[in-house]
Amino acid sequence: MTQNIENLTKILFAKEARKGIREKLSVNQFATISVSLNIAGYPKNTVVTQQFFDVILEDFKIFLLANRINISINKINENLDEAGNFYCSKIEDKTINLNQLKLLTEKFEQNHEVGRLIDVDVFDKTGIPISSNKIKKCLLCEKPATICMREKNHTFKDLRKFSFEKMQFYINSQQKKEVLQTICEMANKAILYEVSVTPKPGLVDFEDSGAHSDMNYFTFLNSCAAISPFWLEIGELAFNYKDDLAKALPEIRKIGIKAENKMLLATNGANTHRGLIFIMGLSVFASVYSLRKNNFIFNSSLFRKTLQSITKDIVENELNSLNKKNKSHGEKTYQKFGIKGAGARYQAQMGFPIIFEKIMPFFKEQFKINTHQNKNELNEILKKALLLLISNVDDSNVLYRNSKEAENLKIMANSTLKGKIDYLELCLFCKEKNISPGGSADLLALSLFLFFIQNIYR
Ligand SMILES: [Zn+2]
Repeated sequence: MTQNIENLTKILFAKEARKGIREKLSVNQFATISVSLNIAGYPKNTVVTQQFFDVILEDFKIFLLANRINISINKINENLDEAGNFYCSKIEDKTINLNQLKLLTEKFEQNHEVGRLIDVDVFDKTGIPISSNKIKKCLLCEKPATICMREKNHTFKDLRKFSFEKMQFYINSQQKKEVLQTICEMANKAILYEVSVTPKPGLVDFEDSGAHSDMNYFTFLNSCAAISPFWLEIGELAFNYKDDLAKALPEIRKIGIKAENKMLLATNGANTHRGLIFIMGLSVFASVYSLRKNNFIFNSSLFRKTLQSITKDIVENELNSLNKKNKSHGEKTYQKFGIKGAGARYQAQMGFPIIFEKIMPFFKEQFKINTHQNKNELNEILKKALLLLISNVDDSNVLYRNSKEAENLKIMANSTLKGKIDYLELCLFCKEKNISPGGSADLLALSLFLFFIQNIYR
């Protein structure tokens, strides 16, 4: 009991101090606005309440901006005391109608998912609270909060449990939104970077279509835009995924097939990104899944393990079709060249060793993250990364189109890296021989994606 009285005294003292803060702010006849949380029991300031308050203040800031209310929400006006989080600032714009502002802040509380936990108060220049006489509902039932409080309809324990669950749920849902948006942004950015590298050997770039007569740079932009919503869908699947990872592939594929259909519609039937949809789809899934498992820190071995659990035995299961009549490109190249012709499936099954062993270290050394890197510098880095990939990967696209020259291409790319062959000569060679290292281009986009998210979620 004495503990309770002690806590209550601390809270009352804090509330008294808040009055002082408000008085100080309203010197020179300013009205004030404050935001606080409605948390039952003690303590009122925990890790969860702090996280929640940060999110709420950001929501409130955006709400005011969206309603064209000129009140800036600044971190400096944030206080933490025994009564919990407290934000209070003066309203500098004296033309704001306080009654209308009060109605608006009530709208914020009412429409917000967890509005019953939020208190926004407006005080006029003399320190009198503006009231709209609206009755605030209880957290747990539909009765007015004051009645439930007076009649002691709920225990502090129940109120507190409910509030903390609500806050945690809201923090998690906001975090999920943020992660999925970022993952999608990075997937799209990586794909756009890849196609923009110019010139490229045999591939579509800004200036040239390489070994492709049915597509150009704009076809790729159409394709990129068409498939972009599906990264979000795959991310959503991964975030909520509870089942055995070995069963995830058909679920990811379902979304991948929809993306592919959209791609074909947008490109007039050209296959711009089929291979990329496969590896990026798997990687978006594996990255979201592993980020969630690892407290939103990217861990490459966890990412690779996740990927390998999803694609376990995929080469054996999907490309071993000796007796099948109508074989796909992948099946044909696998039958003819064995593991060398297993393409993206093999890379995925191994957890993209080339990316983690060669390309990521190369990027780490070359990239200045978060600086607006010079366009030509960036182009040079990406050209080199592409050459690294071409010289190290058995590209099933190349094997399928021109198996005679596949080994030659790898050797030439390596010589280009060493400066023994001119880059443009390699481009010409690919164009003439109708070689398109599309698999390496897909891996370049994927390397960029993984590099970006590794730098964000550290
Ligand atoms: Zn109630």
